[in-house]
Amino acid sequence: MPPITTISRAMRHTHLALALLVLLTTTTDAWGGESDGRLDIYWIDVEGGAATLLVTPAGETLLIDSGNPGRRDPDRIVKVVTEVAGCKRIDHLVTTHYHGDHYGGAITLATLLPIGTLYDNGQFEGMPDNPGKAYFDIRAEKKEVLAPGSEIKLRQSDKTGAAAIKVRCLGTRQQFVLAGEATPANDSICSDAREKNRDGSDNANSVVLHIGFGPWKMLDAGDLTWNQEAKLVCPKNLIGLVDVYQTTHHGLDASNNPLVIRSIEPRVAIMNNGATKGGMPDVFEALRAQKSIQAIYQLHKNLTPAGADLNEPAEYIANLEKECAGNYVHLSVAPDGASYKVSIPANKHERQFTTRDAEGKK
Ligand SMILES: [Zn+2]
Repeated sequence: MPPITTISRAMRHTHLALALLVLLTTTTDAWGGESDGRLDIYWIDVEGGAATLLVTPAGETLLIDSGNPGRRDPDRIVKVVTEVAGCKRIDHLVTTHYHGDHYGGAITLATLLPIGTLYDNGQFEGMPDNPGKAYFDIRAEKKEVLAPGSEIKLRQSDKTGAAAIKVRCLGTRQQFVLAGEATPANDSICSDAREKNRDGSDNANSVVLHIGFGPWKMLDAGDLTWNQEAKLVCPKNLIGLVDVYQTTHHGLDASNNPLVIRSIEPRVAIMNNGATKGGMPDVFEALRAQKSIQAIYQLHKNLTPAGADLNEPAEYIANLEKECAGNYVHLSVAPDGASYKVSIPANKHERQFTTRDAEGKK
């Protein structure tokens, strides 16, 4: 048996090693990104456009929409990809539709970071808005036209116990996946259906993505508009229930059909609005009427006169001023998909959530 002093010295070393391990683990968690087993999602502020970055547990990046043309938005995207997430390229870039606040940043972004596969609607008959030659000439290793049912092929983490990540296109160009025969009709909700004026713009052609990470689920429907949104849940709910709803179309009331919100029963809503774009009264009303929702996050405080009574508490808003620092919202899902946290690093807000399908199973 070693003398007491040797034991206590050994124990001190163990403590030191443990403390170091805890420190390392916490640091990695705080930063998210590569190889920590978590799925990290960043809503990058592109001032009322869209740029949603996923960093998978295997360290791949998937950017859904690329913000506006010019330098500001691509620079903000590059900063989050490289400095925050510690990645070097965009492995997968999806353009949900051909409006400048969704594809506009891609042209410059492709000159700043290598792009793996670019996914979009290609050129199709009757396209109402054309992004033009500069967009179609973007340098990417591969290009793929999405169709209902398409999957973005992502590398899976080889860690034991890691949840599988699956990103699937539920609809695009006004065509949607077919409901399974076992899916019941959504009659109680669909009986409240009402139409809005037909949207002849490319919003109606938006790519709708369902993101699954084990039990955790999220919907990003681009700027899909009201009448098309109804097709996602009526007569049958093609989405199922989700944890996180990226409010469609920046929280504009031409979208965010309550039929969808009521059918998918989200827990967290994240609104990629601008200071004077989106975040409209009817949308806040629909979100607040939905009892499943535990938190609503905004990329911007709504600074229009109508916004005065609408905004969530300041700690749930990433940017409070019109001239802002471009703060992002960060969501990080645990490696098993059973829980997640949403944070706004700029104001130190952080809140934990339990994944709905994992509740009571631990
Ligand atoms: Zn938009």
